[in-house]
Amino acid sequence: MLAVVPPPVTVRVPSKINLHLSVGDLRDDGYHDLTTVFQALSLTDEVTVFVTTEPGIEVSGEGAGLVPTDDGNLAMRAVRALADHVGKPHEADRVRVVIRKGIPVAGGMAGGSADAAATLLACTTLWNLELHRDELAEIAATLGSDVPFALYGGTALGTGRGEQLVPVLSRHTFHWVLAFDQRGLSTPKVYGELDRLRDAGDPPRVGSPEALLEALASGDPRQLGLLLGNDLQAAAVSLRPGLRRTLRAGVTAGALAGVVSGSGPTCAFLCSDGESALKVAAELAGAGVCRTVRVAHGPVQGARVCDE
Ligand code: ATP
Repeated sequence: MLAVVPPPVTVRVPSKINLHLSVGDLRDDGYHDLTTVFQALSLTDEVTVFVTTEPGIEVSGEGAGLVPTDDGNLAMRAVRALADHVGKPHEADRVRVVIRKGIPVAGGMAGGSADAAATLLACTTLWNLELHRDELAEIAATLGSDVPFALYGGTALGTGRGEQLVPVLSRHTFHWVLAFDQRGLSTPKVYGELDRLRDAGDPPRVGSPEALLEALASGDPRQLGLLLGNDLQAAAVSLRPGLRRTLRAGVTAGALAGVVSGSGPTCAFLCSDGESALKVAAELAGAGVCRTVRVAHGPVQGARVCDE
């Protein structure tokens, strides 16, 4: 008798930016407490999983050469974590994961976390598991603090290490221009630089996100633009001084405001509408301050199975 092989499953998953990122002091366990407001953007990765006799990972697209294709890939860790969770660890050795990257690697937009979230959802469907998204989010949190948000998408307030999420009312579609830098930045190095800057002095802190949450509820991009803030920005700029020029160029091109996304080096520029975003993107692309420019909007939904 022939075994029934399930059809491949493809999941599309959003990137994230941090509209607000407040970083607490270094804790004894080496981590920092965060208060952050995530927004999921329409810049996406796509992950396909299928059952095969040749398990492994394949990566194509934006920055593919920089992504590990062994067990260091977060997607592979997601396959194993889910297989272990349902008590069928050997199933992980029969899955191939094909990742098409649109999210820049090591860009501060949580691309690896997005792939892990997409893989969890894709394997849940592939293996016909009855798991609620909240149960998947618990597994997601064991893989990385940005992974649960990639499952839910939308706009959310994150606390703890960013993995404790509460959805946030956001009344508008916001239009963004993203400037990718030549090379990525290592997240641990950026946190280390922030600790160093704080030891050496007292760089300003972004404070609490209340006003930004009100701006999101009102849906006014101008008000939101005034309130974008990221404690990691000074550290990212300190490690990559050219980002200062990029941030200035976006605003000169007509963006309402610019902010380094997460640990950088991607810069996110908020624009008044879609038309303005296209204009800012064209001008920024010609300014020679970054490798590539993309237009995106948010909030968008979290990881979703694509209908063929
Ligand atoms: P962080 O989530 O730490 O802020 P980031 O968004 O800046 O990270 P990612 O694109 O997630 O950056 O990549 C961080 C590192 O994770 C990469 O340098 C890469 O070696 C590793 N990595 C593991 N799996 C993946 C994946 N599926 N896609 C991209 N990078 C991955």
